[in-house]
Order: sequence, then structure tokens, then C-alpha cells
Amino acid sequence: MIAAIPATGCTDTPVLKERGQREVFCGLTGIIWLHRKMQDAFFLVVGSRTCAHLLQSAAGVMIFAEPRFGTAILEEKDLAGLVDAQTELDREVDRLLTRRPDIRQLFLVGSCPSEVIKLDLHRAAERMTAKHAPHVRVLNYSGSGIETTFTQGEDACLASMVPVLHATSARELLLVGALPDVVEDQALALLRALGIQSVRCLPARRDADLPSVGPNPVFALTQPFLGDTHAALIRRGAQHIAAPFPFGAEGTTLWLRAIATEFGVSEAVFDAVTAAPRARAIRAIAAATRTLQGKSVFFFPDSQLEIPLARFLTRECGMTALEVGTPFLHRDLMAPDLALLAAGPVISEGQDVDLQLARVRAARPDLTVCGLGLANPLEAEGLATKWAIELVFTPVHFYEQAGDLAALFAKPLRRRALLQNLAPMEAAE
Ligand code: SF4
Repeated sequence: MIAAIPATGCTDTPVLKERGQREVFCGLTGIIWLHRKMQDAFFLVVGSRTCAHLLQSAAGVMIFAEPRFGTAILEEKDLAGLVDAQTELDREVDRLLTRRPDIRQLFLVGSCPSEVIKLDLHRAAERMTAKHAPHVRVLNYSGSGIETTFTQGEDACLASMVPVLHATSARELLLVGALPDVVEDQALALLRALGIQSVRCLPARRDADLPSVGPNPVFALTQPFLGDTHAALIRRGAQHIAAPFPFGAEGTTLWLRAIATEFGVSEAVFDAVTAAPRARAIRAIAAATRTLQGKSVFFFPDSQLEIPLARFLTRECGMTALEVGTPFLHRDLMAPDLALLAAGPVISEGQDVDLQLARVRAARPDLTVCGLGLANPLEAEGLATKWAIELVFTPVHFYEQAGDLAALFAKPLRRRALLQNLAPMEAAE
């Protein structure tokens, strides 16, 4: 069942734009999931010891494996311009590629320090590609905290790949956005069952499987934070299939339906393929809805998943959204979700953290979705919180994960209810 489109959605809701201090991770964070996805790629951060520590602590699980990321550390003499950082970088890359013949794609990832000293990584990537092609392709993008929030690292990475994709005139579907392999396989199985056979993914698991692009391929985004990649694909002539993002039973159904319509799949086939997994998803969501129903939620801007998730929580889990903050509002990408989100919440773009903290304290929502840095102080003030970053690290897309997605939001509310029940017992002892 798909709920009706609200009479007044948030399409025309005035957006509260804030341009103050932000409290988010930088774009290097994306390497943590991208290096798992792209099995013959290597991410070389050109940065400081701080960047190296961020990656090592966040992705510490990789310590026993052959790593697929590293940091070329800019020392003080590099930052002071006392040595030629480009020459040192060339030496570092030569050493890496000699030691690791398995690497087929190398990303030079810019950071705050490399941006500050204006190290030209694009020129470096062109020079290294000329030297190491065709075995290795070298690309560059920025993960600097000056320029990016944490999901923009993936966007910048994928956008850097689009100009070098081969050209094709074949009619293909591109799925764009890094998903865990098991989730991607579920999507591919659903699309195959609908009769859509020619489907490629960006990013691909291996360089050899990268899609081609041109005027006939169409693409569907699986992640809402891919504004630059969307623009780069449009520049290459590909057509975007606009749809709500595939979160929850309804979101997944509408996302699949938009693709099915594009490929002329009949209603009967669509219903036959989606009925069973959709019913499973609705049942799984219902288990968490018992906790979420009637509760209010407030989103700080963090992952750019906020608008589709607010649509999911309000339409499928019975919650009320008080404020939906997003770091950037890409209207082209968000229009289908905004139309479905019933008017009422404040829609805010960007951040002025002190002003937003004042709003959340005044609103006192049942659940606040925010970054790690804000969660502990807000918990101490008696607000239940959900870490936004968990929503990016956990498989949450499509039918089979819909129950887990709802459960992620229900968990902090259940924990808080348990603690509140325990408090009087402890007082009585
Ligand atoms: S890129 Fe900038 S914000 Fe990110 S870890 Fe490095 S110094 Fe910190």
C-alpha cells in the first residue's frame, strides 16, 4: 500500500537558510565505505597526521587486512614550501604502485592542508595517469573539511570518475551510489525479475566492471547526496530517473516503479515481483512503528539523507517531523521526496549550530538525529538522539532492510523508556 500524496507537501515550503558554524565530519569519511566497495582501488589522502588519525580510528577494522587507503603526510617543510611536494608525491605513488600491482584505480584525495597550500592534485593525477596507464588510472577529488561534509566525499569521488567513463550508445540502467554488496545484489535481483537485464553500477566493485555512459543510458540514484555526480552524468548526456529514494516499503516501491515505467514494465509484472518483498517490509516496519508512532523527530543537517528519511518516518512510521535540516538542498534530487513530505516541519539548509541548538531545546523532540559531537550533550540534557553517521554505515536501502531502518530509530526511544522505568526502581532500593 502506498499512502496518498499529501494535499500540501513541502515542495513550496520556504527554506530556512543558515550559513554559520557547522558540526560535521569531513569528506575523508567516505573512504571508509568506498574502499570496501571498490576492491582494486586505493585512496591516498594527501594530508596531515590529523587526517591519518581520522581514517585509522574510523576504519580501524582494516588493520589486519592489506589496506586500500593510506595517507601521504604533508610535513612542515611541505607546508612551508621548502620542498617540492609534487616530486615527493610522485615518489610516494611510484613506491606504492610497485609494491601493490593489484591497484587499478588510485584516488589522490585532497584534504584541508593540501587545499591550504594549493597543491594541484589534478595536475598530479594527469601526470601519474600518463605514467602508469593503462594498468592504473589516477584520479583526484577533495575530501577537505573546508569544502565538504562527510557524505560529499563519495559524491566528489564518483563525480571524478564520470568524465573518464567510456562512451556508449547502448540502452542501459546505471545504479549510482555505493551500497553494501549484499544490498546491491538485492536491487539487481529485483530489477532482473522486472525484466531489466542491462544494469551497471557506479561505483563498480572492480575497475573492469565500470559502466559506460552516453545519451541512451538512464540512471537512478540510490543515495541522495550525489548532486555533483548527477550533474556530471547529465553533462555526459545520461538521463536521470527522478524518484523518491529507496528507503522503506513505499520509497522502494516508488523508486522501482519509476524505473519500471521508464523501461515499459507492465503493472502486472511489477505487482508480481514486488508484492511479496513489499509485504515483508511493511510487516518488519510495523514492529518498530509501535515505538515510533506519535513521536516527534528533529533532524540536524549531517548526511543529506534527512529529507528522504523524514518522508519515511512520517509516512510509514507515524512520526511527526519538527525540523528537517540538510547540509545542502538539491531541489532536482529532492523534489519527489519533498512532494511526499506533508507540510509542517521547518526545512532548513546549512547550519548555524547555536541557533539550531536553541530551536531543538525549545522544541524538545522525542528523537533528535544529529552528529556524534552533538549527541552526548543533548543526551545529557534529556533528549534521545540517533547518530546520523550510523545511517550511512548500516545497510538501510530497499525492502529487506526497511525493518532495520525503522528499528534504528526505535532503539534510542526504547532505551530511554527502559532507563526511565529503571530510575524509580533504583530510587526505591
Ligand atoms: S581533511 Fe581537514 S577536517 Fe578532515 S581530517 Fe584532514 S584536517 Fe581534519
